[in-house]
Order: sequence, then C-alpha cells, then structure tokens
Amino acid sequence: MSEPTLRVGLAQDRSDVKLSLQAPFRLGDRVLEPGIVEARAEAGRVSLLSAGEELQRSTRIILQPAGEASTFVLHDMTVGVDFHWEHEQDLVFAGSASLDAHNNTFHVVNEVGLETYLQSVISSEMSARCPPALLEAHAIISRSWLLAQLRGSARQGDGPPEPETVGDTTRIVRWYDREDHQHFDVCADDHCQRYQGVSRTTTEAARLAVQKTRGVVLSYGGEVCDARFSKACGGMTERFSSAWADVEMPYLQAVADAPQASWPLPLSDEANATAFILGAPPAYCNTHDRALLDQILPELDHATTEFFRWETTVSSEQVRGWVKDKIGVDLGPITAIRPLARGPSGRLIRLELIGAQGRLELGKELEIRRVLSPSHLYSSAFVVRPEEGPAGLRFHLRGAGWGHGVGLCQIGAAVMADQGHVHTEILAHYFRGATLERRY
Ligand SMILES: [Zn+2]
Ligand SMILES: [Zn+2]
Repeated sequence: MSEPTLRVGLAQDRSDVKLSLQAPFRLGDRVLEPGIVEARAEAGRVSLLSAGEELQRSTRIILQPAGEASTFVLHDMTVGVDFHWEHEQDLVFAGSASLDAHNNTFHVVNEVGLETYLQSVISSEMSARCPPALLEAHAIISRSWLLAQLRGSARQGDGPPEPETVGDTTRIVRWYDREDHQHFDVCADDHCQRYQGVSRTTTEAARLAVQKTRGVVLSYGGEVCDARFSKACGGMTERFSSAWADVEMPYLQAVADAPQASWPLPLSDEANATAFILGAPPAYCNTHDRALLDQILPELDHATTEFFRWETTVSSEQVRGWVKDKIGVDLGPITAIRPLARGPSGRLIRLELIGAQGRLELGKELEIRRVLSPSHLYSSAFVVRPEEGPAGLRFHLRGAGWGHGVGLCQIGAAVMADQGHVHTEILAHYFRGATLERRY
C-alpha cells in the first residue's frame, strides 16, 4: 500500500470562490502563473476565470501543483459551521484543488496526501506543547480512524430503532455517529476532523509526531481499527456499543484508566457505580495538574479542572422544558429521574424520566446528556439525588468524566506520557489486543 490521497471537502455548494495560487499550477496541459483565479457556477458546470478571461468550463476542473511546494489560498472559507464561533477565514492548502459541479453549485475539494493532512489535523486539535508521546499516539489514532472511514465499513450494525410508545411510556434509543459524505472522503470541519490547511497552522511538534509514525496504524485481526478517543474517561473507559451501534469492537472494551482498578467491578452494577462516581479513585485522568491540562486543552479557559468528578443541579421544570424542546414530548413536571442501565464505565445507557403526564425512556449515552442540559452534560456517568426545596423539586447530579469515554482517554494519555510512557505503551493500554502495523 502506498500513502493514500484524501479528498477533503473545503467548501460545499458554492456559487463562486476566489483562489490565490501562490506558485505555478497546472490546468490540463497549461501552466498558470501565481495569481488570483475565480470560479463560478454556470448552469451545471464550473467556469474558471483569470482577470475576466475564461480559462475552462467543465463539470470538474482540477488545478494541480506544478511543483513540490505549490500551495493555494482559499478565500473566505467558512470555519466552525454551526458553532458559535463560525467565521470566514483565508486558509492555505497544499495538494490540488478540484472544483466539482453539483446541481447549480460546486464543491471545492482538496486532494492531499494523508500524511500532510494529518500534520494539519494534529496541529489544529492538539497543542504543540503536548508531550511528544501523546502527539505520536494521537497521530496513529487519527490515521487509523481515517483509514477505517475510507474502508467504508466503519459503520457496522443497524441504525437506531424508531421511537416507540407503549402505554404512557415513550422509548427513544438514539446515537449519533458521523454521516458519510457523498462527494468527498472527509470535510474540513469538526464533523470529521478540523482541517485548517498548511503552513500557518502546522506546528513542528505535530510534523515530527506524524513523520515518526508515518504509515503506522492500530490493527486488529488484520483490519485497521476504528480508533476513538474522548477527553476524560472518568477512571474507566466505555465500550463501543454504549455510544454507537449495537456491535462490539474487541479493541474498544472497558479498561481501568490506572495500572489496576482499585474499585469494585463491574460498574454496570448500580451500587458499584454509585460508590465509584461519589469517590475519587486514583486513575490517570484523575489529575488537577494545571500546567499539564493547559497543554492538552489549549482552547479552553480553565476556570475549572473539575471534569474527573463534576456536579450540577437541574430543576424539574428545566428538565421538562429540555425534553419538550429536544424530544417534542411534554411529560409535565418531572417527578423522578431513574437509572435503568449502565455500561461498564458507569455511564448510563438507559435512563427513565418520570413526569406527571408520562414517562420517557432514553438512550444511549449522548441522548441522555443532551436531554438533561441546555447543551450537553459532561458525561452520562452520574448519580441523581432529588432535593425538595422552596423553589420546588430539583435534581442534584454528581458525575464522572468528559465525553463518551470510548477508546483513548486524552487526559489519561497525557498523564501517562508525562510519567514517561511511550506511545506504544499508551496505545496498548487503551486499545487492548490491537497491534501496531506500518501500512506504508
Ligand atoms: Zn464531515
Ligand atoms: Zn481516563
């Protein structure tokens, strides 16, 4: 196998874009000198213009770098689609630009070597100040995840079942995995992995981590692993099927995020989970090392480092409102929140909300987090204590971890790296039974 070329969607359904070629580019057998070119959608095709002169009109126009280091700037690219920080930015890309007509618009697709793409992704997602072993582990995870997506068989199992109603109980079991793109392999946004081009954003640390692990993937039974990660497991990682489809990945099982578990197992047992969540057992991700956390989570302002164990209070009326907004069911005032089933990390995978006008049974972990907060709870590993007060019934939640908890625990892995573990040890800890293989 040689290094794959990725098709990354930079802009979708555009009617026009402006590109600056920073070096000569090939357009068919003609060479374009550095400068600005414009593309416009024209009745089902794309028209490429330079200084008002039409260079080509076709359903697909490909601008290919004429030299090794040719880069282009895509102007006014939308970054952070649907997030509160959505904005337009000019970004620099290596590789070729393909303008693909689609209905009466076109997509801008960057065809780029997987390793070049990875350098950018690792730079965007991780601080250059992270321990090198963590960057290397992350490069291998991102590469594996990408190759698993390209294989196309990553989405195993059936989709979520339809909501059902039995008596006064509505049952909703949903999960949210990444939807495939039709016209390219991955998009440039957080939906896939954040990709902000080259040069301006690529750090030397990320470049080295990618170079050192070039072509290396996690593999199980001869197949590239669909490697996952989350911010902090809370002490125990979760299995694949608690977050996504009802299939088991042997390398995505629950592991204690410590040399060994110092708490009673299994955490799917309610009493064990309660003691575990209310305690603060020793675990790699049980850290309050501000300097280390600042390295890993550069984008956050660490007003709090309370995610290994966290707490929040929600009122009966708030929960009623979120259920109404997000699920479209009015349960009336909520009178009880009842755990029905937990995964092996202690995360709730089924929860019952009991209201004066009906009951709602919810799953899986993300749906539970979504419904008990205006945005999301940190995790679904929590215990509930009702509190009757002057303002009515409230529920006090105490929880563990941040994210779905499946696969590598970023905070735990950073602590392992800080303690001197190398990337092979970190990956062997989180992905049991998986091996490292150099594919190219
Ligand atoms: Zn995407
Ligand atoms: Zn952890």
